[in-house]
Amino acid sequence: MSTSYQTINPATGQALETYSYTSEETVAQILADAATRQKTWRATSVPERSKTLRRIGALILQHKADLARQATLEMGKPLKQSVAELEKCARTFDYYADHAAEFLADKLVATEASKSYVSYQPLGVVLAVMPWNFPYWQVFRALAPILAGGNVMVLKHASNVSGCALKMATLFQNEPDLQHLLQVVLLPGSAVEPLIAAPEIAAVTFTGSTAVGRKIASAAGQHLKKHVLELGGSDPYVILNDADIAQAVKVCAESRLNNGGQSCVSAKRFIVVPDVLQAFTDGLVAAFRNRTFSDPLSEASILGPMARTDLRDELHEQVQKSIAAGARLLLGGTLPEQDGAWYPPTILANVRPGMPAYEEELFGPVAAIIPAQNEADALRIANDTVYGLGGAIFSTDTARAEQLAREVLQSGNCFVNDAVHSDPRLPFGGVKDSGYGRELSETGIHEFVNIKTVYVQ
Ligand code: NAP
Repeated sequence: MSTSYQTINPATGQALETYSYTSEETVAQILADAATRQKTWRATSVPERSKTLRRIGALILQHKADLARQATLEMGKPLKQSVAELEKCARTFDYYADHAAEFLADKLVATEASKSYVSYQPLGVVLAVMPWNFPYWQVFRALAPILAGGNVMVLKHASNVSGCALKMATLFQNEPDLQHLLQVVLLPGSAVEPLIAAPEIAAVTFTGSTAVGRKIASAAGQHLKKHVLELGGSDPYVILNDADIAQAVKVCAESRLNNGGQSCVSAKRFIVVPDVLQAFTDGLVAAFRNRTFSDPLSEASILGPMARTDLRDELHEQVQKSIAAGARLLLGGTLPEQDGAWYPPTILANVRPGMPAYEEELFGPVAAIIPAQNEADALRIANDTVYGLGGAIFSTDTARAEQLAREVLQSGNCFVNDAVHSDPRLPFGGVKDSGYGRELSETGIHEFVNIKTVYVQ
């Protein structure tokens, strides 16, 4: 195995930095430090932990310009979006600072005992294996409830955002009272299984592709470690005949192209009934034409490159194969002649079963428009996927759309007349091949605690 690797700026194709993998001895030390620190951290009261969470939120804001620039350099998202990501992280630490005491309070249950209740006790050291697409949000949205619950985290981040990972670790290492609450190991994916097996690791949280999620689940299952899986998605956005088309187009274009289209809950499949198919398609093409890509470090940029050329090439292949199988290319679809991982906003129409654009997740700025015969057919198509992360329905009959979102869509996050998005106040996660377990809200904090029954007679 190579002992070092490079990160590449996807906007230029130039090397950014060379990193050495963390040695076996250092990994062992990190695990030992985490286990020791967790013992003192779990002994702090929840109000004390909340004070610390609030400080972490403030630290993130204090360093947001530097952190944001690193994310943009490493994975190419527009600088403004990097800053917005960090602000959301800070809000999430504040949210758990405000609510941890309420979420972790003992819950009395009346039984025959003189006293019986549910108590939430820490689990220990949680291993986080995270993706690059929101390099801070993915980590911090997991970390805030994990810390609130009295646990600590060891992070193995995606290799292409190693600079972001180290900057996060440095934030914690520079503050004496935060030391070892979050530590980072730089390792390839192949080194994760032995980490899951390590006795210091009590649980695992994974966000990433479904293929790697299966490996994590298998290793965690083998060692009987609690785990949460946040995996891929191919969210359906269903446009019904009474939808406000202008509004739907605006929301769909923004959702598909935000973060370069590299979000698990991006709008990915646009399923449209016949009456509004032409109007929606014309609107989406016009909206995509207005979104040209530019240097992500510029303040004005709204669309950067994709994060890596290998991922860009995979996406291009999915587009090419879909066209070969009969999809109509309405916009984009050609590789720009410039260094870096650039890909233009692309729209495919007439997408049908059997095409990659119908069957697979498109993780980049490509919209797949799928014609449906009627409302029932649209909902059938929406659920005709292995994924179940998010989904949205657009209709001016909000009561009807709400009922469909609640009862028919097979996804963890179902929205009406808005883009699916995460919010610290609401649970977030998937069903089917999009994973299991939930992050955020009260549910998220309860994933990594021992939900203990106490019975006193
Ligand atoms: P990925 O390839 O699965 O990588 C995710 C993490 O797993 C990285 O840290 C990666 O490390 C590591 N890894 C790779 N191979 C591994 C192995 N064999 N064993 C253990 N770990 C391994 O995913 P990605 O391309 O970074 O992220 C995109 C995917 O994540 C998309 O499918 C997206 O939908 C999904 N996602 C889901 C959510 C959600 O909340 N549900 C949120 C964001 C993204 P290296 O980088 O070193 O390979």
